[in-house]
Amino acid sequence: MKKIAEVAVPVSLALDETFDYRVPAHCRALLAVGCRVRIPFGRRQLIGYVTAFKNSSRYEKKLKALSDCLDPHGPLLNERLMSLARFLSREYFCSLAQGFETVLPRPLRTSINANIADVPTETTPSTPDPLTKEESAFLKQLDPSKPIYVLEDASRTDRWLAYRAWVKSTLLAGRDALFLVPDVAMIPYATGKLQCGVVPCIISSHEKPDAVRRSWTRAQKGKGALVIGTRSAVFAPFPDPGIIIMEQERHFAYRQQQVPNYHARDVALNLARESGAQLILGSHVPSLEAFGLVRSGQAAPLRFSNKDAPIRLTIVDMHQEFAPRGRSKIISKVLEFRIAEALEKKERLLFFIPQKAFSTYLYCPKCRKPLECERCSSPVSYYRSSKRLVCPSCRQEQEARDICPACLSAYVRYSGFGSEKVESELRRLFPDIRVAQFSKTGRQEEPCDIILATQQIFEELDVPADGFDRIVLVAPDHSLGRPDFRATEDAFARFLTLARMNPKELIVQTRMPEHYIWDYLKKEDVEGFLKREFEERRDLRLPPVTSLGVLTIRAKSEARALGAAQKAWRAVKRSLRGDPHPAEVFEPQPARPFKLRGYFRYQMLIKYTQLEKAGEAIRRIVCQRESGIMAAFDPAINER
Ligand SMILES: [Zn+2]
Ligand SMILES: [Zn+2]
Repeated sequence: MKKIAEVAVPVSLALDETFDYRVPAHCRALLAVGCRVRIPFGRRQLIGYVTAFKNSSRYEKKLKALSDCLDPHGPLLNERLMSLARFLSREYFCSLAQGFETVLPRPLRTSINANIADVPTETTPSTPDPLTKEESAFLKQLDPSKPIYVLEDASRTDRWLAYRAWVKSTLLAGRDALFLVPDVAMIPYATGKLQCGVVPCIISSHEKPDAVRRSWTRAQKGKGALVIGTRSAVFAPFPDPGIIIMEQERHFAYRQQQVPNYHARDVALNLARESGAQLILGSHVPSLEAFGLVRSGQAAPLRFSNKDAPIRLTIVDMHQEFAPRGRSKIISKVLEFRIAEALEKKERLLFFIPQKAFSTYLYCPKCRKPLECERCSSPVSYYRSSKRLVCPSCRQEQEARDICPACLSAYVRYSGFGSEKVESELRRLFPDIRVAQFSKTGRQEEPCDIILATQQIFEELDVPADGFDRIVLVAPDHSLGRPDFRATEDAFARFLTLARMNPKELIVQTRMPEHYIWDYLKKEDVEGFLKREFEERRDLRLPPVTSLGVLTIRAKSEARALGAAQKAWRAVKRSLRGDPHPAEVFEPQPARPFKLRGYFRYQMLIKYTQLEKAGEAIRRIVCQRESGIMAAFDPAINER
């Protein structure tokens, strides 16, 4: 009998704890595990999630009754979603209720009227088109026993034929298909490319609540449903997922930046294993995580390429370039010559510079201090277009200034450069040159000689393969020198993606001409590069060979943050005694940036294969709500 319900409640009090509530008579027939309920909690009314029923409780006499069942037509959370929520809670150190909230789309989390059974669903033709000859031929050459494929698309086009073939054959078999894209702007593109006679359900946090509810209901009915969506669509409530495809699997947007800091790839892996669905990880250059799956025999590799011309790489050693004292040279002599030549031949050039700013580092030559954000210890960047200083960590802006805030000397030096400065330098050297910024939404309408692109270019799926005659990496050392163990891998993937746009030449201006990355890039040797990276990560015990988590402790006062971090460190260290798989725990260090949005932060790195006793200790630290101190554990740092 459903006498007492265990309810997970979204309060930050405890992690795994559920609360007992009496089930009132009017709810008994309707209530099921996975239903949302309205409950009295202290003086508030909250929405909780039923996780189980029982006949007795330790607190029987004091139990309150739950107020209402919010899902009288059946539970919103099916068994698979409940299990995914548990997976999130276990792996990412969030509460069970946070897990439930994460697997539900935002409009269904809090809306009392999320009564999905009442949402009308449009009648849509649901018979998928038959496979074309090409699509059948593609599927025939695959090994059907392989549950995971890692797809590397060097051609920028072939993978869409493969994606459509996989989706259609899944839908034709009456199973459901899930297609994930990293960015909401890519949904229309993917929808167009995957047209197959079935209207897709779109799930993303940018959709209107009604549309999300409709998509959710249709996915829940399944039987050949196609869901296209961003990260959170990995929690679509299909009854029978047959295939999960992740487009651009290495994209940083697949990782949630707040608690729970899950990665859609890990959730998809878990989902595929539990439901028997096939998983396809597609990209221009596979991530080291995907490569690891191939290496261990869990996944099969698949490579598309129709390129015939090899990459022509020109390396300009910036040590050989002379610049006025104290300044860095932006355009080398070789590049200047190439630009002049291109202008004459009417060639188009693409310049890649990761940052948009004019100057990326401002400092006082007298006291040697950098100009920092008022809330963070991050050096600010200067944007000439808006005449503002912007913090790269929290995006707060301040007025540009010429007086050092530390010593009040009236001279601030602007150094480092982004695309704004490159543009001004180009105009200085070639007054008639036509320069435009690459824009994601609109195509460049005005004819131009040089396009300046930042990271955005990687979000664009339709960049014509022969759109640029020459591509220039203006300052690749920025990308290579980032203090992140994934820096070289990311840089390689970016540079190779650019090189695979088939320019006649890729020009690189670097102070690291001996770096091994250039050789692999020139030979387009992806496997060789990934192997080398993998070995290095194994030597250093870094992901994906081992797991790396970070426990961050922050407080408004520096001393309190340090004290709490040291206390936490001792507690985690103590927990390792007698652990059969002891984690490696490093002493707390100031985080980067040390001060963020007004909080001082210390971080403790933890390398592990399994978190047993240490996991319990970390959980305890994370749930302890000592006033003014916050602790958070992120099990996969810096994945971007
Ligand atoms: Zn100064
Ligand atoms: Zn800031």
